[in-house]
Amino acid sequence: MAAPHRVLLTGANGYIAQHILSQLLEAGFSVRAVVRSESKIDVLKKSFRKYVDTPQLDFGVVSDITVAGAFDDVLVSNPPFDIVLHTASPFFIRAVKSIDFLDPAIKGTTEILSGITRVAPSVKRVVVTSSFAAIGDMAGNPIANPQRIFTRDDWNPTTFEQALATDDPNVTYPASKALAEKAAWDFVKEGKGNFELVTLNPPGVYGPLFDASQIAKPEDLNTSTSLIYQALLRPGLKSTDPVPPTFLYLWVDVRDLARAHILAATKPEAANKRWFVVAGELSQQEMANYLRETLPEKRDVIPVGEPEKTQKPEGFYGASAPETEEVLGVKYRSAAESIKDLALQLVEIEKRAVASSS
Ligand code: NDP
Repeated sequence: MAAPHRVLLTGANGYIAQHILSQLLEAGFSVRAVVRSESKIDVLKKSFRKYVDTPQLDFGVVSDITVAGAFDDVLVSNPPFDIVLHTASPFFIRAVKSIDFLDPAIKGTTEILSGITRVAPSVKRVVVTSSFAAIGDMAGNPIANPQRIFTRDDWNPTTFEQALATDDPNVTYPASKALAEKAAWDFVKEGKGNFELVTLNPPGVYGPLFDASQIAKPEDLNTSTSLIYQALLRPGLKSTDPVPPTFLYLWVDVRDLARAHILAATKPEAANKRWFVVAGELSQQEMANYLRETLPEKRDVIPVGEPEKTQKPEGFYGASAPETEEVLGVKYRSAAESIKDLALQLVEIEKRAVASSS
């Protein structure tokens, strides 16, 4: 029988990574969950209590992923690692200095790769969580004639210098993802790594939190679920308010994306490729419709909009990635299931926040 996989997972407390961690553990893998501080370990231990103090789960802390040799200590393990999943990267929509996106994304990626080369030569496969932001031309006009269809062969063209020159997170976040992913591919192309690289490029990621009880208030939600809450559910909204425009139609469920990480880590066919993990298109209007169906008690808050008008504008870009289903083997659930599962948690979190403040 083959030895079970030994996996290092960075950013393990993140929205996506907790689903990855759960699926790795359920598959019987042994995982070192790496986070930025001891307090994040305490939270994870509560959600994964079943595995605490078993050989399947241990923890590591890397407080600053940008320093030279950042991962060298946590990469040393007995049994040694054969898989590394790197998800840690800043993702928020607020203006910070561009370098605060660029440095952790790019240096975090090159540090883990060079650390593997230095101290963990047993690693055979590295999966980096990139983004559609590394594919699309996010600063360009989304509408064109003919309509643009993005595939995994496309790259966000923003350069480091262009990203450095602005603090607009709509430019700097996508650039951080593109430049970090490019740095990973360059590392391999330059022959510096003795491992197979796989990158995953998801668009908007929605669906339930792994453990909603961790989140005390809506302000603590991760970026992609927070955007839904703020646009369609936040206190003060009225059903007569307009549904905000959709900036990103492309989406995937977080559980399906987590499964894509497991397949990317283990399938021979996944090696040395980019995988655009996109379930389809989803408008804010459809999200509003699903939220209204699922949460009758919130009908006075969630904008009605025009329930039948769910289509994107003529010429708005689309995506094509049949290989992710056909070769990688990812299956996608419906947007209705994804948004409804999240909706129930969002009201639970809101109720808890109200109860604790009264
Ligand atoms: P979360 O914010 O929930 O998780 C991000 C993780 O990265 C956390 O563990 C966080 O640690 C860590 N992190 C953030 N900034 C730093 C930093 N400066 N140094 C070290 N670690 C850091 O986001 P998601 O789960 O949504 O994102 C996970 C990955 O998926 C990211 O790489 C993101 O770019 C990518 N992605 C997400 C999409 C989405 O819609 N959610 C879409 C496409 C890609 P801490 O908790 O300590 O801050």
